[in-house]
Amino acid sequence: MKQKIQLPAIHDKDLRKVLDKFGLSNLIDDGKANCHSCSKQITFDNLYGLKVLNQNIIIFCDEPECIDKSSK
Ligand SMILES: [Zn+2]
Repeated sequence: MKQKIQLPAIHDKDLRKVLDKFGLSNLIDDGKANCHSCSKQITFDNLYGLKVLNQNIIIFCDEPECIDKSSK
């Protein structure tokens, strides 16, 4: 069973709430979050979306290639 959450074009406030819920805000603040596709460091400026696969939360940056992968 895969659970998928996609958040394209999210407003910062809502995004922050979702990230807080998954404990990702701190990781991003600390520079410890990386794009699942290209491994680039994720910031609040380049974060495009996230997915939940089982218990794992994976996030994607805003590179076209990664946006493409995040939507699959
Ligand atoms: Zn990426």
